[in-house]
Amino acid sequence: MLADKDRIFTNLYGYQPWNLDAARKRGTWDNTKALLELGADVIIDKMKASGLRGRGGAGFPTGMKWSFMPKEPRADRPNFLVINADESEPGSCKDREIIRHDPHVLLEGALVAGFAMRARAAYIYIRGEYIREAETLFAAVAEAYSAGLIGKNACGSGYDFDVFVHRGAGAYICGEETAMLESLEGKKGQPRLKPPFPAGAGLYGCPTTVNNVESIAVAPTILRRGPEWFSSFGAENNRGTKLFQISGHVEKPCVVEEAMSIPFRELIEKHCGGIRGGWDNLLAVIPGGSSVPLVPAAQIMDCPMDFDGLRALGSGLGTAAVIVMDKSTDIVRAISRISYFYKHESCGQCTPCREGTGWMWRVMERLRTGDADISEIDTLQQVTKQVEGHTICALGDAAAWPIQGLIRHFRPELERRINERGGNGEAPMMEAAE
Ligand code: SF4
Repeated sequence: MLADKDRIFTNLYGYQPWNLDAARKRGTWDNTKALLELGADVIIDKMKASGLRGRGGAGFPTGMKWSFMPKEPRADRPNFLVINADESEPGSCKDREIIRHDPHVLLEGALVAGFAMRARAAYIYIRGEYIREAETLFAAVAEAYSAGLIGKNACGSGYDFDVFVHRGAGAYICGEETAMLESLEGKKGQPRLKPPFPAGAGLYGCPTTVNNVESIAVAPTILRRGPEWFSSFGAENNRGTKLFQISGHVEKPCVVEEAMSIPFRELIEKHCGGIRGGWDNLLAVIPGGSSVPLVPAAQIMDCPMDFDGLRALGSGLGTAAVIVMDKSTDIVRAISRISYFYKHESCGQCTPCREGTGWMWRVMERLRTGDADISEIDTLQQVTKQVEGHTICALGDAAAWPIQGLIRHFRPELERRINERGGNGEAPMMEAAE
């Protein structure tokens, strides 16, 4: 189990105040000027050496991402850092804890990361529903400005750096990085075609890096304690500590910082008091937020909770939002509900997603009630394959994967429902739901 001395987020549960005085006592903003004096290139090298991979789901190496930014920005085309605090993936609730209980960790990270990528300013795009968290963040930014930590001559470093907080309006798709840029620019939040990538033409057409809250917030501690310290946790290629968010049928759902690659069973036993009703009662787990395929109980028990371990099981770490389902779960209904979510959140720009998400949900609803033909399971599988990888952004994949996971692991359950119903009786529930 991760020792308390190795935790980056020391006020995750809000036992102490979030404000600047308390944050300083915890070590945040402690001689940040010295970190900046390392120089931008050294900071990026250290971040690369730490092995940190983006904590927003995709797992792209953070230091490498920063290195894509122009080293000598033009005066009329400044670099920007955009921090993704939109956190709308069902099951994901870690950035919220950082912002409401330890916002200065994020702000210090923003300054260090912004400096390393030669950014003129950071924009923190916070999910609209996070009302109290946004209030805390606004107040923390004001504190940091008054103390001279950000703004002109930030931390006495001679470097000018502004931080703007922007509240979203509740659209899931604005968590997609280019939709977020559109939204920040005041437009409808719809993903852009890539290329160009944001590092070439991002916010207002300027070079931009979009990073998750956790990826940014861990940066100052990595620099202070050294990349070797950070990379001493986790397996090869999956380094560091990570915030896990465990919800569902465990005794004590929680958000906890742990070493990457901790086995699933240990994570649940040590921090969540075990599975509700005991381990034999575990049915399946969605290990990385609603968009990744579920993993059945027998396969996940001893799986290392990291990018590679979960990919080997045909799923993914995503944001490490672990949704635990025991045997009381109607698994078909659960996945159908997730399908409805993606149908609802599709921005409607591309046909496979706009039409496919609704079509897949309607078939899922019929499979839920058994009002389908056995052959439709394969048809549904084929349609998910036609949506996956054929859309502008990853929402198409996110809608397809949970269904693929269900068919892969629970086909007998789908067939049982169809056989039991025998193709007659009540009207499909989708009509009632629509
Ligand atoms: Fe919009 Fe869906 Fe296309 Fe993404 S995949 S751009 S959400 S229609």
